[in-house]
This record gives sequence, C-alpha cells and structure tokens, in this order.
Amino acid sequence: KKQGKDQYTVFDPEMRASFQKHLEMEADLRRAVLRHEFQLRFQPIVRLRTGEISGLEALVRWLHPERGMIPPLDFIPLAEETGMIVPIGEWVLREACRQASGWNARRPADTAPLTVSVNLSAVQLERADLPDVVQSALDESGLPPHCLVIELTESLIVDHRPETLNRLHAIKALGVRLAIDDFGTGYSSLAYLRRFPVDIIKIDKSFVDDVGDVPAAAALTHGIIQLGQALQLSTIAEGIEDAEQLSELTDGNCELGQGYFFAEPLTADAMQDLLFGGQQGGQQGG
Ligand code: C2E
Ligand code: MG
Ligand code: MG
Ligand code: MG
Repeated sequence: KKQGKDQYTVFDPEMRASFQKHLEMEADLRRAVLRHEFQLRFQPIVRLRTGEISGLEALVRWLHPERGMIPPLDFIPLAEETGMIVPIGEWVLREACRQASGWNARRPADTAPLTVSVNLSAVQLERADLPDVVQSALDESGLPPHCLVIELTESLIVDHRPETLNRLHAIKALGVRLAIDDFGTGYSSLAYLRRFPVDIIKIDKSFVDDVGDVPAAAALTHGIIQLGQALQLSTIAEGIEDAEQLSELTDGNCELGQGYFFAEPLTADAMQDLLFGGQQGGQQGG
C-alpha cells in the first residue's frame, strides 16, 4: 500500500486527478458490463430517391447510473484499451440482430427486409472467434445474413494484419455485408478497395456538410459516388442535415443516406413507432 502511495508522487496534481478519473472510469466500465448498462439507438438509413427506410444503424450508449447518458466517443476508446469492447461489442451485435429480426417479422411480406448496421472495433477483429460470434448472433436472432452490415473504419483496414483480412473473408463467407465507415477521412490509398471484400461505402459527414456550398466538397462527394458505382458498391451519405444537401446527393445518384434531416438515432420504442405507426404489440389488420 505504501509503495502504491509513493508512486503517485511522480505526478503533479493535475496528472494525478486525471489518472484517478481514468481508473474510476475503468472500474465504472467493468461494472457497466456486468450490470448491462448499455442501450442501443437506431438511426434510419433511407433510400434517397423514395424516402423509404431501407435499414438502420445501431449506435451504442452507456446509461451511467450517476452521470447519465454517455456517448460512444466518450467511452469506446477506453473500452478498446481495456479490451472491454469485446463483450460490449458482442452485446451490441446480438441485440441489434435481435431487434432487426423482430421488426422484419412484423413488416408486410411484400417489403424488402430492413438491414441493420453494426460498428465493429479493430480490437474485435483481433479475436479469432469473431466469425463464430457473428454466426451465433445470426442463428439466435434468425436474421438472414444479408440483412447484417458490419461497419469498419479505414484505419482498421489500413493497419491490418493478414489474419484481419482472413477474418473479414470468413465473415463475408457467412453472407454478411461489409461497409467502410467515414470513407475519405483515413490516410489510405484506394488500393485496399480491391483487396478488401467491401460492399458499401459510407461517405463521411465532413463531405456531406459542405456538399451544398463548397465546390471542392461537392466534387469529392460526386467522385466517391462514381467510384462506388464503378466498383458496384452501394453508397450511403452520412450526416444529412438539410434539404439542400439531400438534393445535391440525390442529383449525384447517391443511393442511400442517414442524418438528422430524416431522423436522429432513436430508442428502440421510437424506432418501432416510426416503423409501425405506433401500433402496440402484434400486427394489426390493414
Ligand atoms: P459512426 O459510425 O460514423 O456513426 C455516425 C455518428 O454520427 C453517430 O454518432 C450519429 O448519431 C451521428 N449522426 C448521424 N446523423 C447525424 C447528423 O445529421 N448530424 C450530426 N451532427 N451527427 C449525426 P454517435 O452515435 O455519437 O456515434 C459516434 C461514433 O461512435 C460512431 O460513428 C462509431 O464510430 C462509434 N460507435 C457507435 N456505436 C458503436 C458500437 O456499438 N461499437 C463501436 N465499436 N463503435 C461505435
Ligand atoms: Mg457507423
Ligand atoms: Mg460514420
Ligand atoms: Mg462518423
């Protein structure tokens, strides 16, 4: 104990406070995993031409007992550092598949099933059992594999090891689709688009923000959409906030989009209301 105390003397008070906060947060996060303090939000992904909802992105939140709702960017880095992203990410995957499968079962038979997109951390991809975890999430939920989209960031793809590529191929072989998130923000070359079994490009919000009024942003956005078309990939524009951005993207033939203009990430209940018009319980006639 004494030694532990002495170690703190190398820190100045500010460092010490931040170190203690870090330890506290780490303990909180461990408890959060045990007590299931996480929730999902669902943001609709919309077909831009028709406005119909084609899928949902699942986004995690931490409901901290004292500090309230904590957004992912405030705890995912620590969860990655400590490895706790593995159980958290597995819960996200299972819960997202379960919800999507339940909603699909209630949709009219003549509508295409909703897809559900799940963000994956690089740490999860380091685990050899990831393809098995994905398979079991599909099995237990009954969600068809083509309805699941795994979102990866460019940095994850660029810093890859050979096993990462094999693991992605194994997941693809299940029938699951892969998306590159925040496309255009990484330091990557475009060469990886050939090597990685990618199906979908998500155009980063930073391009979409300026697409209506900065010519360079519009040119880059249109270039990404055309690249996607040439490679037969779907394109999803992220962070659409106004009608001007929407019309610019629609004119440019961007297939899909998401953003506050359509809907913010919603609780499962609110998503259910949006999908089924606030009906309670099972399917109603008409
Ligand atoms: P992302 O995957 O790029 O998700 C999109 C983020 O943009 C979400 O933030 C969403 O709420 C926000 N967003 C969507 N539309 C708009 C808009 O029109 N305007 C603005 N200003 N923002 C918009 P969120 O939920 O805070 O998530 C942030 C990031 O945290 C995600 O970025 C993703 O990288 C990560 N994340 C979220 N959930 C998970 C998860 O379950 N696992 C992992 N590993 N990462 C996650
Ligand atoms: Mg994402
Ligand atoms: Mg993104
Ligand atoms: Mg983003």
